[in-house]
Amino acid sequence: MRRFVRPLLLTALACCCGAAFAATADQVPQGRLPLWAVPQSYALSFKVDPAQDDFSGTTTIKVKLSKASDHLWLDGSELKVSKVAIIDAAGTAHVGTYTSADPKAGVVRVDFGSTLKPQMLTLAFEYTAPLNAQLQGLYKVSAKGQPYAMTQMEPISARFAFPGFDEPGFKTPFTISLTIPEKDTAVANTRQVKETPAGDGWKTLEFAQTLPLPTYLVAFGVGPWSIATAPDISPDAYRTTPLPLRGIASAGEAHRMQHVLGETPSIIHALENYYGFGYPWDKLDVLAAPDFSAGAMENAGLVTFRDWLLLLDEDSPARNVRGSFNVTAHELAHQWTGDTVTLEWWNDIWLNEAFATWMQQKVTEQVHPEYRADLDRVTGAQGAMSNDSLVSARKIRQPITGNGDIETAFDGITYKKGASVIGMFENYVGEKTFQKGMQAYIQKHKFGNAVADDLVSSIATAAGKGNDFKHAFNSFLDQSGVPYVQTSLEQKDGKTVLHLSQSRFLPVGSTGDSKRIWGIPVCVRYGTAANGKDKAQSSKVNCEVLDKATGSMVLAGVSQSTWIMPNANASGYYRFSLGKKELGDLTAHVGLLSDAEQLAYADAIDASFRHGDIDAGDALVALKPLTSSKILVVATAPLDQIEWIYHNEAVTDAQRSKLAEWVRDAYLPRLQQLGYQRKDGESGDDALLRSELAGALGLQYKLPEVRAELLKQGEAALKRQPDGRLNLSVADPDLLGDALGVAAQEQGKPVVDALIAELPQTSDAALRNSMLAGLASVEDPALTNEVRDFALSKPVKVGEMASLVRGGRDTQAQRDALWSWFTAHYTQILARTGSFAGGYLPHFAAGGGCSAAEVDRVQAFFKPRLKDADGVDRGLAQTSESIQLCSALKAKQDPASILR
Ligand SMILES: [Zn+2]
Repeated sequence: MRRFVRPLLLTALACCCGAAFAATADQVPQGRLPLWAVPQSYALSFKVDPAQDDFSGTTTIKVKLSKASDHLWLDGSELKVSKVAIIDAAGTAHVGTYTSADPKAGVVRVDFGSTLKPQMLTLAFEYTAPLNAQLQGLYKVSAKGQPYAMTQMEPISARFAFPGFDEPGFKTPFTISLTIPEKDTAVANTRQVKETPAGDGWKTLEFAQTLPLPTYLVAFGVGPWSIATAPDISPDAYRTTPLPLRGIASAGEAHRMQHVLGETPSIIHALENYYGFGYPWDKLDVLAAPDFSAGAMENAGLVTFRDWLLLLDEDSPARNVRGSFNVTAHELAHQWTGDTVTLEWWNDIWLNEAFATWMQQKVTEQVHPEYRADLDRVTGAQGAMSNDSLVSARKIRQPITGNGDIETAFDGITYKKGASVIGMFENYVGEKTFQKGMQAYIQKHKFGNAVADDLVSSIATAAGKGNDFKHAFNSFLDQSGVPYVQTSLEQKDGKTVLHLSQSRFLPVGSTGDSKRIWGIPVCVRYGTAANGKDKAQSSKVNCEVLDKATGSMVLAGVSQSTWIMPNANASGYYRFSLGKKELGDLTAHVGLLSDAEQLAYADAIDASFRHGDIDAGDALVALKPLTSSKILVVATAPLDQIEWIYHNEAVTDAQRSKLAEWVRDAYLPRLQQLGYQRKDGESGDDALLRSELAGALGLQYKLPEVRAELLKQGEAALKRQPDGRLNLSVADPDLLGDALGVAAQEQGKPVVDALIAELPQTSDAALRNSMLAGLASVEDPALTNEVRDFALSKPVKVGEMASLVRGGRDTQAQRDALWSWFTAHYTQILARTGSFAGGYLPHFAAGGGCSAAEVDRVQAFFKPRLKDADGVDRGLAQTSESIQLCSALKAKQDPASILR
C-alpha cells in the first residue's frame, strides 16, 4: 500500500491525527524496537526557561534504514510534535506524520508518506512538551524559590524529553544545544564550545559532540546554578590529558562541594588503575540536584546526585560523609561499567549496577579502608537474601516482559545480590585474574554494548576455565533464590569428612519448591590445632565447587575440638545451617572468626530462625557474643533480628521488657561510653555507632535513660531563636533526627507543628532529612495522619515523600491507620510519584504487615489497579508474600522461649 504525500498545510493537523491514516500491516512493537531502523547520531536542541511550564525542542536523528518501508518506530511520551521532516539520502524532503501508537508505553510510529528504499535518512522533529513534575525526563524543580530544569532519563524517560530510540542498545554520538534565558547557566554531558546571543533575552549554548551514548545517559541542567571549580585531575598511565573537574549546585551552594571535589581525583585514579583504561569523557561535572528520584545518576560526564550527598560541611552527619564517598565511587565506576560498556538490554542491568556496586566497594576499600566496605558487601548481600527468599523474587537476569520489568529491575537483587555473586566468583578465580578478565572486557566492548555472556566468557578466559565455570556463574544469574548449604561432619576411615547438601532457602510458610541446584564455590574455614596443642585456635580454609545436590570435602589437619564456618570470609552468596552441636562449637569460637565471618554467623542464626530450626531463645543466646564486637556493623547485626521478635504481637509485655533488658545489657554501656555528643577527633565509626545505638535504644526499645538524653537535645533544637527559627544546629548532627523523633513522640502536636512550619524555610538537605525523620517518628494516630497529609503537600519534595510515609508500621493499629490513610489518598499519591514508583506502591501501603487479613486487603485493593503504574504487579506479589511469611513465622513462635 502506498499512501499519498499530503500537502504541507495539513502537517500540523496530521501530527495529532496520524492514527486516522491507514497504516501498513506492522504490529506496534511490544518490548524492543525492530532493528531495521537504527539511529546513527542525534542533534538535540532545546529552548528551556525553567520558569515556564513547557519547553520546545528540535530533534534531528540520522537513521539507517535497512529495509524498504513507509514508516519506522521509535519512542516519545507526552510530546506535542508539530512537524516531522524526513530527508532522504538524495536530499529530498518528505513530510512525515508522528502518531502515538501506544501512549502508555511511549511507542510512536513515524510515517514517511511513501515507501522509501533502504538508505540513510535524516528525521527532524519540532515539538513542545511539559517540564515534567514527577522527576523524570526534563523536569522542573525549585531551590530557595528559584526554578531549575534538569534531566533524569534512566531507564525509559528520555522519551519524555525528546523523540528517539530510547533503548540502551542504540548508542550514538549526541550533539546538544540549549537556548536558555540570558541570566541562567547550563551544563550538559560535554564541554560547552560556543555561546551566542539569541535575542529577546535568550542565549544559545552549544556543547561538544559526545562519544557514543545510549539515550538514558543524555543529561543537562538549566538554571541559576553556582559552580565550584577544582584543580584538574592529573594525567596518569591511562590518560594523557588533565581532566577538568567542577561541582554544580543550586545558587549559593557550590562552596559546600569542596569535600567531594577533594575526594574525586583519588576515586578516578583508582578506577583508571583497575580498569587499565583512562576516564573517557572530556570533563567531569558532579551536580547536586535540588530534587531527585534516585540517589544519583551516572550520566556520562555530568553525574547528578541528591544534594545531601554532595553538600557537606564540618558538622555534616557521619552517615552523609560516608554515603557521599560510597555513592560517588559507585557513579564514577559506572563511567566504565555502564557508560563506556553499556548493557544491550534491560535484562542485563546487573552489568551496570552489580558491577558499579562491587567496584564502589573495591575503591572504598582502597581509598578509605576504615569505612570497611568489605563488610558493606556482606551486609548488602544479606539484605538481598531476605528479598531473594521470596518465591516472587526477581532473577539477576530477569526477562523483560514490559516496561514494569524495566522499572522494577533496579532492586536489591540487581545491585546487592549481583555485587555479592561477582565478589564470590572473583574470590574463586583470584583478584588479579578477575581484573585481567575485566580489562579485556572493557577493551573489547568499549563505546559499545555487551551481554552477560561477554563478561562471563571474558572472566572464564582470563582464569583458563571452561563451561563448568560459566555454568556455575550463570546458575546465579538465571535463577532466583538463595542457596541453602546444610553441613554435617563425619569421621570416616580416620578422616574428617564434611558432607554438604544444597537446596533453595525457603522460610517457614513459603510455598516454594526447595529443589534447586547452583554451582556454588563453597569455602569452609575449620579449626586446626595450634602449635601441636589441640585447642583449635588456628584455622584452614578449603574451597570446592558444589554443583550437585550433595557433595563432600575432606578436612585435613583438623583438631579434635574442631569447629566449622561454612562460609569462609563470607565470600559466598549462600546461607548455611549447622547441626546443634556444630552451632554450639562455632558459637564458642566466634571470636576467632574474621569480622565478615561474624556477619555470616549472624546471618546463619537468622536463617535457622526463619527456617524454623531454632527458636527466639536460642537465637538470643547465639547472637549475644557479637554485641561486644569493636566493629560497628558486627556489633549491631543482632538488632534487626531482635527487633522482629520484639514487635511480634504474640510477645507479652513481660517478654518484651525482658528483650529490652537484653538490649540494655548488650548495648547501653557502649552508648554511655560514647556519650551523646560528638568528640573532637573521634572516628566516623564512633559517630555512626552513637547514632545507630541511640536510634535503636531510644526509639525502638524505648529505654528511658536514652530517651531522656535525646529529649534534652530535641527540646534544645526546638527552642525558637529571636528570628523565630528553630535552633537545630545545637543538637549533635548525627542524633538530630532521633532527638526530634523522641520530642515528637513525647510532646506531640506542638513539635509536629513546629517542624512542619520550619521545613519550608530550610534548604539544607541534612537538616531537612533530620526534620523528616523526626516527623516520621510520631505515633499518635491523628498526628500520623497530619504528617502524611503534609507529605503530599508542596513543601515536601517528591523525592522526600517516602521518608514520611515509611514509619509507623510496628503494630496492627499503626498499620491499620496507614492503610486507611493510603487508600483514602491513593489518587494523590499516584499523581505525585509517577510511573517510576509503581513497584513500591503496595509496599508503601502495606509493607511490614504480618497477618492473613493484611494480605487479603492489599490484594483486594491493588488487583483492580495493576495498570495504574508500571511494576505494581511485582510489587504486589512481593509485598503479599512478605506479609504471608511474617504471619507464618509469627504463628510458629513460642514467645515463652524468650524468658528461658
Ligand atoms: Zn548505579
